[in-house]
Amino acid sequence: MRIPSIQHARSFAVATGLFFGATAVVATPPTGTSSKVHAKSAEQQATIVSAEAALLKLKQGNERFLSGKAEHPHVDPAWRSKLASGQRPFATILGCSDSRVTPALIFDEGLGDLFVIRVAGNIVDEPVLASIEYAVEYLDTRLVVVLGHEKCGAVTAAMQHLSSDEPRELIALVEHIHNQVCTHHDGEPDVDESTDLDTVVLKNTRRSQRTLQLSSELQRVAEKHPVKIVAAIYDLEGRVRWIDEK
Ligand SMILES: [Zn+2]
Repeated sequence: MRIPSIQHARSFAVATGLFFGATAVVATPPTGTSSKVHAKSAEQQATIVSAEAALLKLKQGNERFLSGKAEHPHVDPAWRSKLASGQRPFATILGCSDSRVTPALIFDEGLGDLFVIRVAGNIVDEPVLASIEYAVEYLDTRLVVVLGHEKCGAVTAAMQHLSSDEPRELIALVEHIHNQVCTHHDGEPDVDESTDLDTVVLKNTRRSQRTLQLSSELQRVAEKHPVKIVAAIYDLEGRVRWIDEK
């Protein structure tokens, strides 16, 4: 997979003023070097949420949602007005487009809290990877969650034989998932058409997690400060099950 140029992303972000607090943006140095194109204010630094704190917030939010005690925060007019000056999401979520798996709801968060990328089967392609890299590099999210879910239709379709009459884009999507889950990986179960769907969903989620972990750009950012990439499965009844996390 070709990794998008971060310099290109920086130019885009500077040009569009997408940083939190436009005053933090400075022009690319005249030398043309890519060493430093923006600096973070003390205020911005103070708002960065660690991966551990972000994970705890998500767990607590899911517990509220699960128990019917959701607070539905951060939707009032005053909050929306504040957000108009910039966003500071505390976590990045890669989830499926399935209508039953809405991250802000199942984690009981509000506007501006989560940077969410949703695509059928929670796969990682170039635009998805670029979006996550952007959130980590420029919005300072230290936690990335790959959120698979029970009874995923995209994963189910990937394990069936689609008719060639289907749109080629749909065929490409399910082939991506099929290749991802059916390729042998050490430490992960081998998958074929007879494998139970829960196992395939888990492997698909882990594969997307692994693709992100192998991103050279994310690794580069992680050299400067800790970035955690975790996997989780949503069970459609309301509970998020964290993989390899307590
Ligand atoms: Zn799905």
